[in-house]
Amino acid sequence: MGEQVLKVDADLSAVKEIQSVGGETVKRCYQCATCSSVCPLSPDEAPFPRKQMILAQWGFREKLLSDPSIWLCHQCGDCTRYCPRNARPGDVFASLRLMVTKELVPFKFLNTFYNQPWGLPILVLISFIILFIFTALTFKGVPNFFDAKSFPYSDIYYKIGFLKLPARVVMIDIVFLSLAGFVIVVMANAVSKMWKTYLDYYNIPQAYRYSYGKIISSYLIPALKEIINHSRFEKCGSNSWRANPHKMLVFGFIILFITTGTVFILADIVGMHTPWNPLTHPVKWLGYIGGILLLYGIIGLISGRNKAELQNSLKTSYPDRFLLWLILFVGITGFAIVIFRSIPFLFNLTGVIYMIHLITVFLLFLAIPYSKFSHLVFRTTAVVFDLYYKDIQRKLKSSDLS
Ligand code: SF4
Ligand code: SF4
Repeated sequence: MGEQVLKVDADLSAVKEIQSVGGETVKRCYQCATCSSVCPLSPDEAPFPRKQMILAQWGFREKLLSDPSIWLCHQCGDCTRYCPRNARPGDVFASLRLMVTKELVPFKFLNTFYNQPWGLPILVLISFIILFIFTALTFKGVPNFFDAKSFPYSDIYYKIGFLKLPARVVMIDIVFLSLAGFVIVVMANAVSKMWKTYLDYYNIPQAYRYSYGKIISSYLIPALKEIINHSRFEKCGSNSWRANPHKMLVFGFIILFITTGTVFILADIVGMHTPWNPLTHPVKWLGYIGGILLLYGIIGLISGRNKAELQNSLKTSYPDRFLLWLILFVGITGFAIVIFRSIPFLFNLTGVIYMIHLITVFLLFLAIPYSKFSHLVFRTTAVVFDLYYKDIQRKLKSSDLS
């Protein structure tokens, strides 16, 4: 009998990619499985991260793309702490998530810009140019950024129906509504790809392939409850400190999202005049509460990560650091606008800080498909799939028994 040859299509470019975004230790793994035994989140029926470590060593892009376990890991670092080879599976998983994100979205160069330090000036320049062009168009020429009455509080208004909108609002609406539309389309497409890949990989029978409406109504709400409660985060051992600041950060984002939506409805649809009194308007106070929670959460995450790095349980790669500092800058510049606007000798610098704030917000919006911020959507999708899959398994078992 002839010798059988097993052909393995290793993809070295995928391995290099994993190593370039924080998973440089991937090749050290010798498959002892300590990591899967100590992982507090690894389920018995589909344990991780040992299996994914070998898939990553061989660069099995497709298999890694089809595996929701990558998103169920919360990078708590327990596996990293106990790994006898210092292969740092928790950190490798973080780099796998970045790789999967890149696979799922178009315009991959933006992903490269977000995840490499040399990309930062390019991103800042892109966002500045876009904001500058739309500022010049809506302010009818280039405003003086060192005169707050020229930018952002100019006396140029636009009459749109019964609305009289200031130039800054028109500029912000054009830029950020277009950006939000782009992000929604890209993410919806990526989630649909991800979902289909999971369905095919797990061979889900047609009868159980529910419509998106049913998936959302039956599994999304429980998944969101679980994510907001941080129940998986709290199971982590080595880095359980992350649960509280992360929870505060999520609450901060939710409140700021509600605040922005309310401002948009009141100012841009109902036509209530802005800026509102910063000391007395309730929407402003809601914004301050959201901002304080965001700053509390992000400062807690940055300082906790520094300690965890010293204990060798968590590594902060450039993509981690970039997102943490970007969120911090969004919070700081947001509060700086309120302070600069209220102090007479700083008033004329409001335009400069306003533009810096818009650049940071622009970068944060665009970070949703192109950085670690994509976890917001992809981890939610994986948790929804996890709940859905367990439910299907239960149904299949009970139909076998009957
Ligand atoms: S990552 Fe470390 S603990 Fe896990 S299987 Fe490999 S060598 Fe063992
Ligand atoms: S980092 Fe934590 S959750 Fe992720 S695989 Fe390791 S032990 Fe499990």
